[in-house]
Amino acid sequence: MTGAGNWTWLIEGRVPTLVDAGTGDPRHVDAVAGALRGGALSQVLVTHGHIDHASGAAVLAQHMPHARFLKMAWPERDALYPVMWHPLADNDILEAGDTSLLALHTPGHSPDHVCFWHEETRSLFGGDLLQRGGTVWIPGNQYGDMSAYIASLERMLALEPARVFPAHGPVIDEPMRLLRNYIDHRREREEQVIDALRQGDATPHAMTMRIYKGLNEVLVPLARESVAAHLRKLERDGRARREGDAWHIMDP
Ligand SMILES: [Zn+2]
Repeated sequence: MTGAGNWTWLIEGRVPTLVDAGTGDPRHVDAVAGALRGGALSQVLVTHGHIDHASGAAVLAQHMPHARFLKMAWPERDALYPVMWHPLADNDILEAGDTSLLALHTPGHSPDHVCFWHEETRSLFGGDLLQRGGTVWIPGNQYGDMSAYIASLERMLALEPARVFPAHGPVIDEPMRLLRNYIDHRREREEQVIDALRQGDATPHAMTMRIYKGLNEVLVPLARESVAAHLRKLERDGRARREGDAWHIMDP
């Protein structure tokens, strides 16, 4: 699920700042220490509470005793990573390096997801909001929220970013195009779910088998979560309803 691994981003300067904590791999901790050349890390800004982004916090805290850890609160999840978390809120302005970043709550992939925006360079530290060469998983039964995700994509599109530093994959130099592609892709997927409902599919599994024909068996549960996320959105939009385990279309 993490592809070739994940990035953390070190911003050097007066307030040395790391974006995302990684997983506590000693090679990562050594690399951060090496890049700081003996300097102290001031803070770690965590984009969200998934393990590949947050689970390294405790190990980093041992090696970087001056660092503060900041993220938007997700209490059940944060308790898994035993450091003192300072809560971030939407629109918080944070000193970082020799400049400042704006925290932007961008839920959908997870409820606590935050991107960090650098206005001067129109750069966004995007966490798991988007990545090149794929789509982002919205786990419908594990706190993912498709309505919120699409709203987050639209909010980031409105910023007109020039560059996105993602947590996975290469730097995104044409984020506007990718954001629009993502939004279009979700709309198309939603139409496919509506079509499957019209054809009489009642369960996320049946819809998954119709929409993702030929999908590797291992990936079916993930695709089912994504379909579930679309169904929840349609339910909220008044376009689908659930009776027990069966979903129905609500055509006007
Ligand atoms: Zn994630």
